[in-house]
Amino acid sequence: MTNSSKTLKNEKNQDWILIQPGLFDFPVEEGQYPALLANRCTSCGRSFFPKRTLCPHCFEQGEMEDIALDRRGVIYVCTVVHIPSPAGIKAPYSYGYVDIPANSIRVFALFTGGDPYSFQSGQEVELVLEPIKKEQQGQQIIGYKFKPLS
Ligand SMILES: [Zn+2]
Repeated sequence: MTNSSKTLKNEKNQDWILIQPGLFDFPVEEGQYPALLANRCTSCGRSFFPKRTLCPHCFEQGEMEDIALDRRGVIYVCTVVHIPSPAGIKAPYSYGYVDIPANSIRVFALFTGGDPYSFQSGQEVELVLEPIKKEQQGQQIIGYKFKPLS
């Protein structure tokens, strides 16, 4: 049996909310890894995350096919932010871009699983889904982040 609902109760009986529908599958079934949901232009082969409805490179009317990105990547660039984000992310936090070699794509990402100052270009990371912030009603906003490969 699988629970296809996008809203779950956590251990405190509070709701999980996805930061944006369609970025990743949630919840992740037991034994499975999370994946970012992207798409690829069937004309030129370029991939996009988040998904695009039309390829901005070739503007062909070809189909955009859905793909799940490989969960492993390499930090292209990162920085540390010292003020809370307008969305409510506590400072300091690290974000940047991750190259995913298997899909030839670069994605924006928050980093987790280490001192914000410890992340560096070239570091191998993998995708995780975790709370980004908590709403006043106690709901956890779930987003995607990358953490160092252990
Ligand atoms: Zn294209």
